[in-house]
Parts: sequence; structure tokens; C-alpha cells
Amino acid sequence: MFPLLVGAQQYDWGRPSTDSTVFKLLSENHRWVKEIQPVTEVYPVDETRPFAELWIGTHPSLPSFVVRSSLCSLDQVLLEHSSSLRNGAEKLRSTTPLPFLLKVLSIQKSLSVQAHPDLTLAQQLHQNNPTHYPDDNHKPEMAVALSVCEVLYGFRKLEEIESTLLKYEEVREACGLEAVEQFLTKIGTSSNEEKRLLLKNLVSSLLEQTQEVISNCIARLLPKMKALSSNSDQKDDVKYANILLRLYDQHGMDSGVILSLFLNFFTLEPGEALFIAANEPHAYVSGELVEIMACSDNVVRAGLTPKYKDVPTLLKMLSFQESDLSFVKFSGKIVEDGVVCYTPPVEEFELELIHVRSFKKFQARSTCLMLCLSGNGKINCNSPKEGFHNLSLKEGSCICLLEGCECVVENADSHDLFYCLAHIRNRRDAQ
Ligand SMILES: [Zn+2]
Repeated sequence: MFPLLVGAQQYDWGRPSTDSTVFKLLSENHRWVKEIQPVTEVYPVDETRPFAELWIGTHPSLPSFVVRSSLCSLDQVLLEHSSSLRNGAEKLRSTTPLPFLLKVLSIQKSLSVQAHPDLTLAQQLHQNNPTHYPDDNHKPEMAVALSVCEVLYGFRKLEEIESTLLKYEEVREACGLEAVEQFLTKIGTSSNEEKRLLLKNLVSSLLEQTQEVISNCIARLLPKMKALSSNSDQKDDVKYANILLRLYDQHGMDSGVILSLFLNFFTLEPGEALFIAANEPHAYVSGELVEIMACSDNVVRAGLTPKYKDVPTLLKMLSFQESDLSFVKFSGKIVEDGVVCYTPPVEEFELELIHVRSFKKFQARSTCLMLCLSGNGKINCNSPKEGFHNLSLKEGSCICLLEGCECVVENADSHDLFYCLAHIRNRRDAQ
């Protein structure tokens, strides 16, 4: 097993160091690494800027390093062991031996409204525009909440979109009267494919609207939403008024602020998970979570961001279907005492959240990444192919385990030792 030094992305939407799990895990990780081996700093930390994402894996934008006598990239070390990786990653579409990327997110401000391309589109985008689409891989993504998280995901039921349009003339104007009229007159009697096109037409018209119209509509919506947010017994209206006001505070006169009224807004309780399929619009709004995805950084953004937006691509790719949230939001499965397993409908990855009261034995069934979230203890690997036999475990410890490693994790505290383990999903199915 290999101890890892990891880095963090300090995006604007992250949390300040005083209130960021990402910062805590990062600084503890660097401290833990230096106890194992005095190494030179490769990821300097700027405590004055927000801490948004901790990255664990081999993605070239922020790779993890194996702690040896000097630091060596995890990708390099895994390639050296590729014979022992057998048929795990090679079966999957991945240029590295590790087909997934593990992250922790600390969200202060909503992220952009975005969607992830499927594999075919990802390859096209990468070929035509490698600067903005750095990977030729798709990006299915799963998040597990560590705190209460707020999320916008997928389109609301069409009746709800209809009633929003009827309620707010400002929203009708922002969407363009023609698209709105078509939507309102035909939505009740249309086939599913026609409904899809009506919604697409409505959203296209909103996202392609001039800045002047958008600013004007938001300016007029704000006092209505303020009044609603403090007094109304219509629960959904209040909820959406509040989210619109917050998004406006964070992002100003952005068409994404209005688009939020058409998306499902809901919370995840700690331990609840969200699976983000290709071509579904989404934005994390607040909270802290563990995220795992195919090794890719391809995102098509539509709004709520100063970063590169690609509205034409987004409009082409979105599914424009009501989301069935029962497939989107789910609880993990308790597979044994203290172990909750989250299995998404993709091959690349699976995630376990594990509480250890005294000790736990397990065998790594693929190349795994382990991240200790809290507690104190140690891990012993009695069949290491290379690397360490014993490592201490505490908040921020990150370890890569090779397939077949037999491990024992021991808790040294009165509280549980809490960690997550990410592995390649298809290994278990193959066994
Ligand atoms: Zn995303």
C-alpha cells in the first residue's frame, strides 16, 4: 500500500479555511505525509483563498503523489504495477490504471449549472475544443453527503414549470413570449417527444436571451421573491423564492438564476447519495460531500459561473425530461456492520463509507483509494506487493491499495474510525 500526498482546488465557490473540510483534510494530509517521510512541498496552500475540492487520484490536472524516498506520481507507480492490476481497469475506458477520481467538496456558493457529456459527445468535444474539454472521457458522477447538502438537479415536473410560468410574468418575458405561448397551449395534449421539444424550446429561448432582458426580469422578480420568501404558506413557492434570492446574491444578473425555477431543488441528508447521469442539468448549492466520478474533468456549463459557458452544446445535449428523483437520490446499502455501500449504475466505481469500532479485516478487490475522514488508528497490510506494511490512520490520511492486499484496520480511539473506500465496481461483479 502507498501513502498519498494530495492537492486541493481553491475555486471561488469553496469555503474559507476556518470552515472547510477540504482544508482540514488537506492540511492534515500534508502533516501526516511529513511524519512518514520529510518531503518537499509540491502543493503549496494559500490559506487566504477558499478551499473547494480535494482531489485523490491520477487526473493530470491535480495528481496525487506516492510518498517514497522522494515523491512519485501515483499514475507512474500504478503503471509499474500494471501487471498486478490484471483485468480491472484495462477493461474500462481509461488511460490510467485508475478509472475513477475521488473528491471531497466544501461548497460555500452554488457551483455552475452544468451537465456532463456522455462518452460519444465527450470524444467529439475533446477533439474540437481540447482547451475547454480536456478529457475524451465521460463523467458519470456520484456524491454522498457529509453534511446537509442542497442541490439543483434535473427538470421539475412539467405542471410545476407551467405553474411557474403562469405565476410570474417576468419569467414569461425572460423565456420569450412565443416559446412560452407554445409551451402553455400545447403541453397538456402533447406526446412525450413533443413535450421534450417544448421544454427544449423554452429553455433555449431563456438561455439565449439578451443580457438586457435577463437583467430587467430579475430586477423585477426580486421584490416579489422577497415578499414571498417571508410570507406565504405555499411551501414550494417559498423554497424557490429563497433559492432564487440566494443565487442572485451569489451570481447577479445571470440567466441561471431564472433557470433554477425550472429545476428540482432538494436536500441530501448526511449519508444520502446522488447519482448524476449524463446530459442532466445540475448544480450543487451548499454543503460538504464526498464525490466519485470517472476520471474526467469535462463539464458543459450554462450559467452561474464566470468560467467558460457553452450554451449551444448544453442545449443540444440536455435530455429535457422530467427527472424521476427516486433514481437520482438514494441511500446506500448496509452490506455489513458499519459498512454502507453506494453502487451507481456505471462500471467505473463504487464507494463504501465505513465506521470501525474496534477492528476490521478486508481484502482489496481492485485498486482502491482510501480516505480517512475522522478518528485515529492504523492499517496493517500483510501482503503488500510493494510499499508500506503499516501506516497510521487519521483525518486526512490517503492510501492507495493494490488489488488483493489483505488489510486490517484498527481503531485506537473511543470514537469510531471513519473512512471511505473507493474501488472499481466491475471487479466484484467479475468475481
Ligand atoms: Zn457536475
